Amino acid sequence: MSQHYDVVVIGAGPAGYVAAIRCAQLGLNTACVDQWTDDNGKPSLGGTCLNVGCIPSKALLDSSEHYYRVQHQLRSHGIQIEGAAMDVKVMLARKEKIVSTLTKGIDGLFKHNKIAFVHGHGRLVAKDHIKITNQDGEKTVRAANVILATGSAPIELSIAPFDGKRVVDSTGALNFKQTPKRLGVVGAGVIGLELGSVWSRLGAKVVILEALPTLLPTVDQQIAKDAERQFKQQGLDIRLGTTVKGAKSTADSVTVSYTDRDSEHQLEVDRLVVAVGRRPYTEDLFEPGVGVDLDDRGFIRVDEHCRTSVPGVYAVGDVVRGPMLAHKGSEEGSAVAELIAGQSAHVNYDVIPWVIYTHPEIAWVGRAEQDLQKEEIPYNAGMFPFAATGRALAIEDTAGRVKILAHKHTDEILGVHIIGPQASELIAEVVMAMEFSASAEDIARTVHAHPTLSEAVHEAALSVHKRAIHRAN
Ligand code: FAD
Ligand code: NAD
Repeated sequence: MSQHYDVVVIGAGPAGYVAAIRCAQLGLNTACVDQWTDDNGKPSLGGTCLNVGCIPSKALLDSSEHYYRVQHQLRSHGIQIEGAAMDVKVMLARKEKIVSTLTKGIDGLFKHNKIAFVHGHGRLVAKDHIKITNQDGEKTVRAANVILATGSAPIELSIAPFDGKRVVDSTGALNFKQTPKRLGVVGAGVIGLELGSVWSRLGAKVVILEALPTLLPTVDQQIAKDAERQFKQQGLDIRLGTTVKGAKSTADSVTVSYTDRDSEHQLEVDRLVVAVGRRPYTEDLFEPGVGVDLDDRGFIRVDEHCRTSVPGVYAVGDVVRGPMLAHKGSEEGSAVAELIAGQSAHVNYDVIPWVIYTHPEIAWVGRAEQDLQKEEIPYNAGMFPFAATGRALAIEDTAGRVKILAHKHTDEILGVHIIGPQASELIAEVVMAMEFSASAEDIARTVHAHPTLSEAVHEAALSVHKRAIHRAN
């Protein structure tokens, strides 16, 4: 007789593992199936995020930023370091150690919460039957509820297919054994900018080819322009409005042909990273006829409670609509667990923060100024530059600003955009404020410690009403 669970989760990324843990906390008998294996062929929990996404990329961003600072920013502190060198192998080993600490941590949490983990490929053969295939063969388990959390995969371009050597995806770009002298990147999105920054800081000459005529078009355009200026100063060669026509690899280089508005060009690089977005991953996930609907882009179709077209089957994370962000998937996972347990739960999709972990960091939540203009929503804008805060001067990290957009009549905060030091951490305050429908006045009246970077948030809120203290209004 097959095993029977209250819930089976397929996928142990940040959407699936959080869903499984929350289900177990709520007393549901839960199993989680995941097929990920590490380089040694061992199961590794945590999905894209922990294994080849958020965590390893941030580890490399941190290492490369230290190296960059040692080379370019410590002399004014009186620190002189001669002959600094980067040992890429050590940097990669550090990254792997962080990944393995965290993936093993999920394993421990599963055991602690008595979640049955099954390594293997899960396939929905009926609304309450999951077939699991692994090295031991095949077995079927039954579940009253199923949560699909199978994530996403990189989009491949037919004109520049991945070969795992010269033309790679983001996973390849996390694992170069030495710094390429010349690195090409297709796509100036989040991955292109983060991983382009890593290798540029380590000495690669990085050229980023972007199809669109503007950088980061969904980001507040004033902030995006600040970012473009900063990236150019750092030596990132971002070429907008380009169309890649093909990529030809030889034993030691790859030649990319592309056109821009004016003419045709050839770019010879040692490695090419293609980072043009990710697609929902549903390969071999359903038996035909199970009835789980997909939308026209291949995402599993869900309602606002992550319910699919099949009763008792939910889907969360990158495999469904909305931003492909770990924290968005985790919130959906928690909410679905609570719904299954009979509680009420929802995800506030209007208040999901985004962060790009470049230097300076870029973080935002809510609407951009161009969105408000398009939607004809009346607003006041407040702004404050980090250069006018003592803390930013003390840490010698002054580039950037905080921008707060509040409704002209109600003063409710509609969007906050930060480019600058610790933007990833500073955004949390305003996310919380927006979750409680706070006004700019609420932040302006909140005491912020001195000297901190958060004073820039405080001053930007004051500036919404033209009463910032440390700048002319
Ligand atoms: P995934 O993490 O993709 O997990 C899905 C899991 O399901 C995988 O383990 C997969 O093997 C498994 N699976 C799939 N099909 C089956 C099946 N049929 N049977 C069994 N198992 C299956 N997001 C952020 O918020 N912050 C960041 O800083 C950030 N950085 C990123 C950097 C990079 C380089 C990349 C590539 C992504 C980054 N992301 C970041 C995005 C983030 O990784 C994803 O949004 C997140 O991992 C999605 O979580 P998920 O659980 O939906 O899917
Ligand atoms: P992206 O959507 O952020 O950017 C892709 C870029 O490629 C876009 O600017 C797009 O215009 C461009 N593009 C598309 N086709 C092209 C072509 N043929 N030629 C040139 N340019 C082309 O996607 P990504 O950078 O691959 O990242 C995927 C997703 O992973 C992100 O959207 C994000 O959700 C997630 N992610 C998040 C973080 C983070 O939160 N810090 C970091 C990395 C990845």
